[in-house]
Amino acid sequence: MNFELTDEQLQIQKMTREFAEKKLLPQVRERDEASKFPIEEFKELGKAGIYGLPYPEQFGGQGVGYLPYVLAVEEISKVDASFGIAFSVDTSLYGGSIMNSSAPDEIKKKFLEPIASGRCIGSFGLTEHSAGSDAAGQKTVATKDGDGYIINGLKCFNTNGPLADYTVVYCLTDPALGTKGMAAFVVQKGTPGFTVGQIEDKMGIRSAQVSDMVLENVHVPAENMIAKPGEGFKLAMKTLDGGRIGVAAQGLGIAEGAFEIARKYLMERQQFGRPLCKQQYLGFKMAEMKTDIEMAKLLVYKAAITKDEGKSYTVPAAMAKMACTNVAMKVTTEAVQMLGGNGYMKGYHVERMMRDAKITQIYEGTNEIQQLVISGTLFR
Ligand SMILES: Cc1cc2nc3c(=O)[nH]c(=O)nc-3n(C[C@H](O)[C@H](O)[C@H](O)COP(=O)(O)OP(=O)(O)OC[C@H]3O[C@@H](n4cnc5c(N)ncnc54)[C@H](O)[C@@H]3O)c2cc1C
Repeated sequence: MNFELTDEQLQIQKMTREFAEKKLLPQVRERDEASKFPIEEFKELGKAGIYGLPYPEQFGGQGVGYLPYVLAVEEISKVDASFGIAFSVDTSLYGGSIMNSSAPDEIKKKFLEPIASGRCIGSFGLTEHSAGSDAAGQKTVATKDGDGYIINGLKCFNTNGPLADYTVVYCLTDPALGTKGMAAFVVQKGTPGFTVGQIEDKMGIRSAQVSDMVLENVHVPAENMIAKPGEGFKLAMKTLDGGRIGVAAQGLGIAEGAFEIARKYLMERQQFGRPLCKQQYLGFKMAEMKTDIEMAKLLVYKAAITKDEGKSYTVPAAMAKMACTNVAMKVTTEAVQMLGGNGYMKGYHVERMMRDAKITQIYEGTNEIQQLVISGTLFR
């Protein structure tokens, strides 16, 4: 067991930290207020190859594994969790769907390379109004049509939806078979009948773009079917295991970002004739928060390393997701309290971080669903 990062991992960590501080921090508050996504900055980071970190070079990726991807999401999310989730969905949910699929290599390359290179943006369409925690409740249907398929339905809560050049759409080819008839297709922006529906107005991660995606008689060629009927549900679940490691990294980053703001504030703010950090109560609280953060970090790094080693990572990913996101909620709430009235004001960032933290406990499987995943393995 080795707790040291390699030089390459440290380099990726440093690069993404500097990018977040220089390019994302200055306007993060304005973007949150205006619900505006920094598309130019997203493409700029993409050109550095960051969205292809875990994927083999033959598909346009960097081939350096999942741990560097986790480090990058963590660094970005310390500053801007909206950017963090856009990156995570792009890489692990869109990219993961392609890489985990049984599509031929040339199709994988065709649909992954534009995303891994940062030229294009990907999204993941699984959730529907009738299919949230229970992804089996799909109503979107793909019907065979000559050499392709016609898709009809509506995907909701689609992160990156309004920006995406490519979306993986999970749907049923035979509704009578339920999940046994689930397939997955890549649908490209501009395909007739494929439109962006309602764009959501959210509590947190306000700069991330989340919308309905409407499919009305959308014709897709057969080669866009990345999961054959019967393979789609398995593909979605496997891909979400990897996605949860990304959400865990996002939660960890949010917690670390808020912790650091609170740490500096407690050293500067004077009350009762001395800095607040001299109050043992607050120092002990910070000690507990730091310990929670370190525990969460070990779990998410372990989940990423387990994935990189080719072992089963379903349970490590679920544990990391639950732990890191609960720590994000706890630490951001405490940070707001430690900053007192200032913590409640927009200029100090921690109120945004507290709003951003909440969603990490909900998406890519709520933390109750993570408990189902973990407890399901305990009594065999
Ligand atoms: C901002 C945002 C972005 C998202 N991005 C995407 C995306 O890009 N792509 C995508 O496909 N989806 C996306 N989602 C969907 C997200 O993954 C779902 O919202 C989430 O899985 C929960 O589903 P639901 O909202 O339908 O809640 P429900 O399933 O209705 O759950 C409601 C509550 O009941 C609890 N619950 C449900 N079943 C059980 C059970 N068996 N035992 C105990 N408790 C249970 C849940 O934990 C939750 O607390 C996004 C959602 C949001 C809000």
